[in-house]
Amino acid sequence: MSSNSLLELQGLQKHYPVGGGLFTPLVGVVRAVDGVSFAIGEGETLGLVGESGCGKSTLGRLVLRLEHPTAGHALFRGRDIFRLQGLELKGFRRQVQMIFQDPQSSLDPRMTVGDSVGEALLIHGMQVGKERGERVEELFLKVGLEREHIHRYPHEFSGGQKQRVGIARALATSPRLLVADEPVSALDLSIQAQILNLMKDLQEDLGLSYLFIAHDLGVIRYVANRVAVMYLGKIVELSRKEEVFSFPLHPYTEALLSAALPPRAGRRRWPRILLGGEVPSPMNPPGGCPFHPRCHRAFAPCPTVVPQATEVDGRLVVCHLWG
Ligand code: SF4
Repeated sequence: MSSNSLLELQGLQKHYPVGGGLFTPLVGVVRAVDGVSFAIGEGETLGLVGESGCGKSTLGRLVLRLEHPTAGHALFRGRDIFRLQGLELKGFRRQVQMIFQDPQSSLDPRMTVGDSVGEALLIHGMQVGKERGERVEELFLKVGLEREHIHRYPHEFSGGQKQRVGIARALATSPRLLVADEPVSALDLSIQAQILNLMKDLQEDLGLSYLFIAHDLGVIRYVANRVAVMYLGKIVELSRKEEVFSFPLHPYTEALLSAALPPRAGRRRWPRILLGGEVPSPMNPPGGCPFHPRCHRAFAPCPTVVPQATEVDGRLVVCHLWG
């Protein structure tokens, strides 16, 4: 583990058997996460990007230890999170929290939002009585809400305000790492910017690290320090943000950029690339390079030879063009 890594994933896999129940034969395996390795440093934001169904959210759930892996390790401050028990596990749960796409899902409509945030403290046995109330108030102010909001119910809030409450709840236990799964994709554009700015301010203020999961490259470009591009359960490119956006190495990254960020005057011109077809089933991925049926740069070895991870100027890419 590098000295300042907060989290390090080593060959993490999550495969789901299909069938294989009491009355059904095993018909296959869905390789949702298929050998993912990367690290997140203290105070860093790693953007995880890819089309829906590529395994991003499953990876997020593994990092939160809401799922158990089929193979591989996830080290948080050097300890394998899947081996933690008792007090160590409780400590881990405090230090790694989640920001949801739909904040409503973490808020009980029958509870005031103040009680919902206080509940997070209660669950983790942190602060009681007056102290808990003071901590809730402090959290509300930190996320840009006001004292009087504490006694209101979720239906009285806009989407952006609800996400602020969701962030306050996630911050209640003073975490070090936040897994944010599409935290702004359900919000209007103008509100998205406010929530992203809030997350950046909180990061600076509290020294937080983020695993920021999104399909929107514009959002990733705004928040991330490094970018991991995921396709069919694997990381196909991992680079510093500036490098990804100025010179993508992997043809899939190139295609995502071409679709999301049309060239502007004075900037490098992207070739116009149409990313055809659907993401293939992770139960039956294509042979060779799994991206080859959709790749605009595919050549002779691609349908039959599996590309290996290669380091190019400190960047990681999985493609025969660089192997
Ligand atoms: Fe495209 Fe071949 Fe590279 Fe796969 S290995 S991304 S098919 S060029």
